[in-house]
Amino acid sequence: MMPMITTLFAVTRSAVRLPSGSVSAQCSAVGLRQACAAPRTRQMSMALKTGIVGLPNVGKSTLFNALMQESQAQAANFPFCTIEPNTGVVAVPDPKLSVLAEINSSEKTVPTSLSFVDIAGLVAGASKGEGLGNQFLANIRECDAIVHVVRCFDDPNIIHVSGSVDALRDIEVISLELVLADFAQVEKRAQKASKELKSGKTKPEEMSALETLQAVLDEGRPARQAELSDVEWECVRSLGLLSAKPVIYAANVMDSDLADGNAMVEEVRKHAASEGASVVVVSAQVESELVDLDDDERASFLEELGVAKGETGLEKLIEQAYNLLELQTYYTSGETETKAWTIRRGMVAPQAAGVIHSDFEKGFIRAETVAYDDLVSSGSMKAAKEAGLVRSEGKEYVVKDSDVMLFRFNV
Ligand code: GDP
Repeated sequence: MMPMITTLFAVTRSAVRLPSGSVSAQCSAVGLRQACAAPRTRQMSMALKTGIVGLPNVGKSTLFNALMQESQAQAANFPFCTIEPNTGVVAVPDPKLSVLAEINSSEKTVPTSLSFVDIAGLVAGASKGEGLGNQFLANIRECDAIVHVVRCFDDPNIIHVSGSVDALRDIEVISLELVLADFAQVEKRAQKASKELKSGKTKPEEMSALETLQAVLDEGRPARQAELSDVEWECVRSLGLLSAKPVIYAANVMDSDLADGNAMVEEVRKHAASEGASVVVVSAQVESELVDLDDDERASFLEELGVAKGETGLEKLIEQAYNLLELQTYYTSGETETKAWTIRRGMVAPQAAGVIHSDFEKGFIRAETVAYDDLVSSGSMKAAKEAGLVRSEGKEYVVKDSDVMLFRFNV
């Protein structure tokens, strides 16, 4: 095994041609063509988008702003910022980063990221263009998942668009707008598709998918509840159906309900369970106050509210969104830095390498791989190698969550 790795490595050494001052230069510092601090990384563009939706005055912007401030405070070296006034990238909290950095004496750690978009302005009638509805629906179409903020706090000073606070009614208003917008789209596509069926331009699977979707949406149910085969889903993926996107309900409560929730939260939970969706209880207002506090102040503030230490709503929300998107993390770790990378579950090693740089995917040879737990229990990469825990994986290897990887590639 060893001679083969040496040979492969010799190939990469002679053949790598990367843009000036890029990956090759940095990685030679640690003696390997390693996926590390590349200035041309695709990390930012990889960030998957989660749209924050909900009726007006439910706390979306308060939550969004807290998310942005929190991530800037938590990750000083994180190369992100608010991209547009309503879009920002947040660091995904990950305690494994500092453990790996300690083992490999990394100079810095770089977390992976998720992008959030504050989609304001959805109101009843949005699917018919009310309140700039179409524009906002188009914003949701570009998202990979949805955080639906639901007002579960009563405050006479904060006007509710419908005159009273009713979590379930609010959920239905938003959900129905998404369903109606999807119905119009599916209907339009189905009309065209049925004409194209004879000429073979539309596949029968697409037609059957559209028919099933039409029936589900017609009952007012979200597209995600349609029982379609993988092939059928693939046929309708380009429609970007709003109600097919995975959803997390963020039940926004007042500070005194943060620990134990309230009756409205229970209603939201029941509703979410019936849809197979998850719920995160947050207090947007508390979160916006927490971001200005240091760790000790934060712990005592949360303790006063009866919330377990370390469990901020924002962290829970980011983690849930990450899970919802079926994402997982792998790491690269060396002296320069320890970095977390986001991939979709099921990706093979070359695809994972491609997240760092497309050249890594094209020229992929092998990936030296060790499980995070094995590396930690061994105490060092050297010890892990000696114990036979570092594997040389090839093109077919399906990357596991928390793998620590080093790519050999040839361009
Ligand atoms: P959006 O329209 O959904 O983006 O709502 P905003 O985030 O702008 O919030 C509307 C109003 O509700 C603001 O005055 C917030 O300060 C207030 N608000 C947001 N979250 C909470 C909360 O958890 N409790 C209370 N009492 N007020 C909140």
